[in-house]
This record gives sequence, structure tokens and C-alpha cells, in this order.
Amino acid sequence: MGEPRLPGTYLKEKEMYQLPGIVEHRPDAKYSFSAGQAVSRFLEGLKQGRILGKRCPRCGRVYVPPRSYCEYCFAPTAEWVEVSGEGEVNTAVVSYISTFRERLEEPEIIAVIRLYAPGYTGKKDEYEFPGIFHKLCGVKPEDVMSGRVIGMRVRPRWKPPERRVGSITDIECFEPVEG
Ligand SMILES: [Zn+2]
Repeated sequence: MGEPRLPGTYLKEKEMYQLPGIVEHRPDAKYSFSAGQAVSRFLEGLKQGRILGKRCPRCGRVYVPPRSYCEYCFAPTAEWVEVSGEGEVNTAVVSYISTFRERLEEPEIIAVIRLYAPGYTGKKDEYEFPGIFHKLCGVKPEDVMSGRVIGMRVRPRWKPPERRVGSITDIECFEPVEG
């Protein structure tokens, strides 16, 4: 309740901002950064509805999004490869908070998806690396809670070409592959 030897009335926050000399300012800062050679080409690919990665010549890992160097071998990744976009859900969460930190009445399902590498045969553990972070649609929160989504086969749902801007959001979400 305050310091008893110093009687007085505490200012409310609203009153505080009405004092002379207080300036309210909302910074309007804009940032830009270079995506770099590898990611720039990846983003260009998304605009065309293609998912591009780079393969390590030493260990064969395919990086999506692409990296200029292999994190395991430190070898420069030279070869560009295109992946189909199909893959499996590695992990998922139900989120009631939007990317703008607003409360959502209808939750979003966010997942890490391991895309199949080119030449995936369905038998071996052939995935790109490290797994793409995106929204899942066509599944219910219960499917996440029960663990049913784990390992589910999914594919990208693309925005129509005229709405693509060269961003990861050119993919609307990943949806289950039926059958
Ligand atoms: Zn490697």
C-alpha cells in the first residue's frame, strides 16, 4: 500500500500519461534482410508451386529449406533437387494463440512435417532434413491429442498462383493424403 512515512495518493497509470512532458510514441520500424542465395531460390520456387532443396554430396541429405553447407559434413551443398511436398507428420501441437498473439476461438494445428526426399520408395527412411514447420488442416484437435496425426501422410495445399508472393505462406497448409 505504499510507504507509510510518505503520505500521498499514488497516480494511476492513466493519470501518469496525462502529465505534461509525457510523449506517447509508437515506433514504426521496418526491417529487411537478405534471404541469401539458397533461401532466395527456395522462395522463388514456392511462387511457382515447387519445393526446392539442396543435397549434400557427401552424406546425401537433402535440405529443405536449402542450406549452403551440410550441417553434418560441412561440405558445400551443390545440387538442387525438387521434392514432391508429400511427407509425414513428425510432431504437432494445438495452438489457441495466433502468430499475432491473439486468442483463437478455433485453434490452429502446427506441425513439423518430414518431407519425402526425391526417390522416396515408401520402404526406407528417406526424408529431407530437418523437417518443415507449417499448419495442418483437415485434422481435428482430438487427432493431435490422441496421437493419431503422428506419421500421417500429408501434402501441401497451395494458394492459387495469383496469390503467391514467394513466401512459405504460399503453402496454405498441409492436408492429409486420402487413402
Ligand atoms: Zn552431409
